[in-house]
Amino acid sequence: MCDFLSAEARRLAPYTPGEQPRDQQYVKLNTNESPFPPSRRVLKALSRAELLKLNLYSDPACTQLNAAIAARYGLQSGNVISGNGSDEILAFAFRAFCGRGRPVAYADVTYSFYQSQAALFGLEARVIPLREDFTLSVDDYMDFPGTIVIANPNAPTGVAVPRTDIQRLLEADPKRVVIVDEAYVDFGGESCVPMIFCYENLLVTQTMSKSRQLAGGRVGFALGSESLIEALNRVKYSFNPYNVNRLSLIAGTAAMEDEGYFRNCCETIQENRAWLTEELEGLGFAVLPSSANFVFAKCGRLPGGELYRRLKESGILVRWFDKERIRDYVRITVGSMEQLAALTDELTRMLEDL
Ligand SMILES: *Cc1c(COP(=O)(O)O)cnc(C)c1O
Repeated sequence: MCDFLSAEARRLAPYTPGEQPRDQQYVKLNTNESPFPPSRRVLKALSRAELLKLNLYSDPACTQLNAAIAARYGLQSGNVISGNGSDEILAFAFRAFCGRGRPVAYADVTYSFYQSQAALFGLEARVIPLREDFTLSVDDYMDFPGTIVIANPNAPTGVAVPRTDIQRLLEADPKRVVIVDEAYVDFGGESCVPMIFCYENLLVTQTMSKSRQLAGGRVGFALGSESLIEALNRVKYSFNPYNVNRLSLIAGTAAMEDEGYFRNCCETIQENRAWLTEELEGLGFAVLPSSANFVFAKCGRLPGGELYRRLKESGILVRWFDKERIRDYVRITVGSMEQLAALTDELTRMLEDL
């Protein structure tokens, strides 16, 4: 470790992103990106005239983007904050709503970035195990005296929590913030956004990375009561006022305004997910019920790590987590039919040869 590292930096738990290989063309089913290109409106909006304005700072208030998001969800701009991916928004939320005397709770099997954020801000974290079947019991959180983060649908399992459960949690203690990370909600989860008007302590985060074809554009946002959004802005303006760059502001606004393309893409992914689930089950896999753009599956005949390695050798990337409870599973992004057929063909071959 570097001698210059501060004591605080020594305690960090950096997130390990999925592979983004440059050496060869893989069938890439490892990081839950969309297999489809951005909306044509995005391409049109990113004009030469806009490129020529890159000498100027971006709008720190993200006025147009926030207005487009607010309009889409029937909210006011004061209920919206945008960020450089929802990871940044989550960081703002961890800084704003957790700290000394205010710990954070999240599941044992969930988005590992929560652990990275907790370490970054030196938070006391309570890790609460999911049930045996990877469902989340909100009753396990009822008495927790701090901020709660729930990915819904969860990653890497794809399993969703009913909205009524989250509602019980919000009502159990109105003084406690519940952050619902809805990165995957557009693929079939029940969104908590309609409850924002009823609960001052509800913060919902979403992203354009998974369902709006903009993972590389890095656009995420949070929706919540004006007072929660104000709190997040306090952190944002202490960290990076120009957090969303000019091109991403334009791309995000155009993507948010193309409702038709968004719906088409989400529907196709859900159809492809049903197909993939059936194929995998036919091959003897156990597949968790997914409300996301990926499936979490276990092959009875090959350990997860072995399956991951063999697929990679065949040019297919999936995600494997070398972690207790989920070592036997791989997470497979629901790609295009062409990608998925390549995967199931390869799996069929592989399992025949065992
Ligand atoms: C992908 C993902 C995010 C954030 O993605 P960004 O690209 O930073 O917007 C947040 N939460 C979960 C659970 C995710 O899987």
